[in-house]
Amino acid sequence: MRAVDIIAKKRQGDALTSDEINFLIRGYTAGEIPDYQMAAWLMAVVFRGMNKTETADLTMAMAHSGDVLDLSSAGPVVADKHSTGGVGDKTTLVVAPLVASAGLPVGKMSGRGLGFSGGTLDKLESIPGFKVTLSPEQFLEQLKAVGVVVASQTGDLAPADGKLYALRDVTATVESIPLIASSVMSKKIASGANVIVLDVKVGSGAFMKTEEDAVTLANTMVEIGHSVGRKVSAVISSMEQPLGNAVGNALEVREAVDTLKRQGPADFLNLCLTVGAQMLLLAGMCGDAAEGKSILLTKLISGAALAKFREWIDAQGGDQRVVDRPELLPKASIVEPLLATQNGYVAAIDAQALGLAAVALGGGRAKKGDPIDPAVGIVLKAKVGDRVQAGSPLLVIHANDPVRLAEAKELLLPAVRYAGVAPARPKLIHQII
Ligand code: URA
Repeated sequence: MRAVDIIAKKRQGDALTSDEINFLIRGYTAGEIPDYQMAAWLMAVVFRGMNKTETADLTMAMAHSGDVLDLSSAGPVVADKHSTGGVGDKTTLVVAPLVASAGLPVGKMSGRGLGFSGGTLDKLESIPGFKVTLSPEQFLEQLKAVGVVVASQTGDLAPADGKLYALRDVTATVESIPLIASSVMSKKIASGANVIVLDVKVGSGAFMKTEEDAVTLANTMVEIGHSVGRKVSAVISSMEQPLGNAVGNALEVREAVDTLKRQGPADFLNLCLTVGAQMLLLAGMCGDAAEGKSILLTKLISGAALAKFREWIDAQGGDQRVVDRPELLPKASIVEPLLATQNGYVAAIDAQALGLAAVALGGGRAKKGDPIDPAVGIVLKAKVGDRVQAGSPLLVIHANDPVRLAEAKELLLPAVRYAGVAPARPKLIHQII
């Protein structure tokens, strides 16, 4: 078999056999197939797609490119959640300790920033000392001891996804239902949880721009999960505007901590409770979603969720003092507001433009392995439906470089649209599958 023939076959739009997919994934993981051939193949998949069998084969090949964890010693049920990628999406930082504080262990493999969307690992690494690279043994030990663990793809855990994910980030090959479904589900299968809630984003700041595509992606992932005996549900949620107010790694950690202290934005908390309640529901820990939310609210109000966050950060080597002293997080040297240019209401905020602005500031990567700047980003001061006055701050930019700041401003200025009358506030939760 030759990689070049498999690339040509996909370029022509033909379906690949399971042997061909395994050959590619094994060869790429072992370093025998180079990045340039894999990038060409990824682009062919973006244009030609994959059928259900190919997508399932790709998922299994990536899931089995390293160890597949057996978490049964950590308890009868271990839960996981995963977002398909958005702007300002710091949900894991709140949901993981919140659900764990209710007694349901959460073991999760996350990703880095991808295209214009942020990545949980990059956010966590903005906490001084936090380590995301764990061996399978460390993953399991922490899950048992603390009840919450979030790790990266490593040489041992879904290495094929780790390599492909980094390549897709910089080759404009993210937006593809089979590539996203297999990337997400390979990590979920390899990290072993038996309950999985998928947060499928839809809108301008998501990879799925239409509800129809989001539902197709959700169904594809749910079916793959069911086929390997996992309990899976999907929440379709809006990414028409950023989630919460903060976009940028350390800024999002700060907002997650505020939310655990019950001082965060309402839309973000609403999503955390919705996703968390689905996890409890699938685990059989509540009768319905309303009961699940009320269990989680109790944990938030009692401070148990915040205490679990501290324990988790500490277990992975991070400085948990950031909870009380957010000034210990990386801080940008330039903090500059962007002012509203009109009186009226905010009618739309292009979430993708905000994500791209955060990348332009240095918060994401242009090339594989580029370092990122954890301090930079954007904090919204107004959201869709809010009244603004010309000259009042719409958002605040955190930057470390004046040239990058100017680039970000160019992206941000046209990202906000105004209306003379109050527009309807966008619906956050579209449906649950
Ligand atoms: N999250 C992932 O893990 N993979 C993708 O491709 C997109 C979002």
